[in-house]
Amino acid sequence: MSLIVQKFGGSSVADAESIKRVAKRIVETRKAGHDVVVAVSAMGDTTDELIDLALEVTPQPDPREMDMLLTTGERISMALLAMAIKSMGHEARSFTGSQAGMITDARHGAARIVDVTPVRVREALDDGAIAIVAGFQGFSRDSKDITTLGRGGSDTTAVALASALKAEVCEIYTDVDGVFSADPRVVKRARKLDQVSTEEMLELAAAGAKVLHIRAVEFARRHNVTLHVRSSFSHLPGTLVVPPSEKDTMEEPIITGVAGDLTDAKITVVGVPDTPGMAADIFTIVAKTGANIDMIVQNVSLAATGRTDISFTLPKSDGDKVLTALRAEQPTIGFQSLQYDDQIGKLSVVGGGMRTSAGVSAALFTALKEAGINMEMISTSEIRISVVTRADVLNHAVQVVHTAFGLDADDEAVVYAGTGR
Ligand code: ADP
Ligand code: ASP
Ligand code: MG
Repeated sequence: MSLIVQKFGGSSVADAESIKRVAKRIVETRKAGHDVVVAVSAMGDTTDELIDLALEVTPQPDPREMDMLLTTGERISMALLAMAIKSMGHEARSFTGSQAGMITDARHGAARIVDVTPVRVREALDDGAIAIVAGFQGFSRDSKDITTLGRGGSDTTAVALASALKAEVCEIYTDVDGVFSADPRVVKRARKLDQVSTEEMLELAAAGAKVLHIRAVEFARRHNVTLHVRSSFSHLPGTLVVPPSEKDTMEEPIITGVAGDLTDAKITVVGVPDTPGMAADIFTIVAKTGANIDMIVQNVSLAATGRTDISFTLPKSDGDKVLTALRAEQPTIGFQSLQYDDQIGKLSVVGGGMRTSAGVSAALFTALKEAGINMEMISTSEIRISVVTRADVLNHAVQVVHTAFGLDADDEAVVYAGTGR
C-alpha cells in the first residue's frame, strides 16, 4: 500500500461546503487503497484577516504572539476536516505542527525546518486512520515556542512530511489546474504546463509565482520528493515538478513562464563615495538586518563628484529595518541620502531553453518597448531575466510579454476559487 501526502490550500477549504468536498476527495484516495496524510491551510483568507486584526491592535505585533495567533487558522481547518471525514465513516486524526513533529529553528514568522519526527502521524496511519496535519507551523526545541514557516508555508509542511514518511507523491491541491505559463488571474490565456523542471519552478517561485512556496520546491529537490500541483475543484491531471534531466524538452518553448511580483521595493543609496570597499560596507549593514536583497545596480560615477548611486531591491516588509540600519551608518559611510520606492513591479521570464538560445533579452526588451513600458533595472541568471517596471504597468507588461513569446493558449484558463489575495 502506498502513502500519498495531499495538501489543500486556503481556497480549497474556504467554507463548510468546501471542507466536506475536500473530505470526500481524501476519502476517495483512502478507498483506492492508499495511506493518506493531509496538510491543510487556514480557511480562505483567514491568515490575512488575522494579520489585519493584529495590526489593529498594534502596528508592530510581537513576533512570538503573532505566531500564536496565526497558527490558530490551521488549527480550525484541521479539526473541521477531521470531523468531516469521521462523519463519513472513516477514521481521521488531526495534529498540530508540534504534535506532528515539525521541529524548526526559533525564528518567528520565518522558521526553518530542522527535523521532522512524525511519530504520531505514523501511529495514526498504523491504526488505519487518515492523518490531518496543520500546515505552516512548527515547534522550536530551543525556545520551546510555536513557530510559523512564512507565508505560503503549508506547501513546505506537506513536502517535509512526504519526505519523512517516504510518500510516493506529494499532491499540492489548489484553485487552478496546475502551474501555468503565467498567473491565470493576470493572463487569461495562460497555458497549463504538464511538466516543469525543479530549477524552473525555483526561479518562478522566486520571481513571485506563489502557486508553490519556494522552500517546498527546494525541499522536494533535495529529498527527491515528487510534486504534483493540481486543482481540488477538478479531476484533471496537473503539473509534475520533475528533475531537469527528466523533463521532456522536445518542442520545448524557449520561455516556460512569465512571473510578476509586486512585493518588492527599491532603495537607492545616493552619492556614495566611489572608493573600494563601499559596496561591501553597505551590503554588510544590509545583511546584518537579515533582509533578502535581489537585484543590485551601481551607476557609473561622475568624474566631477567622485560619487555614485547604488540601488537594490528587497521585500517591502524589510524596507523599514534596512532604511533604519543604513541611516544609522550614514556618517561612517558618507553617502548623501537614501531614496525609498515601493511602487515598483518585477517581471521575470524563466525557461531552461534560454541556455541554448540567443536573443531572449532582445525579444523581451522589444516587447516592452512596443508596449511603451520603461525598464528601470535589469538582471539575468542562466535561466531567468528580470526587469523592474512601475507597479501600475506590471500586469500589462506580463500580458504583452506572454503574448510576445508565443505562450498564449487557445482557451482561457479556469480559476476555480480564491480571491488572489
Ligand atoms: P493555495 O491557497 O492553494 O496555497 P495560493 O493562492 O498560494 O493557493 O496559490 C495559487 C495561486 O497562485 C493561483 O490562484 C494563481 O493566482 C497564483 N499563481 C501565480 N502564478 C502562477 C502560475 N504560474 N501558475 C499557477 N498559478 C499561479
Ligand atoms: N495560511 C498560511 C498563509 O496564508 C500558510 C499557507 O496557506 O500556506 O500564508
Ligand atoms: Mg499557497
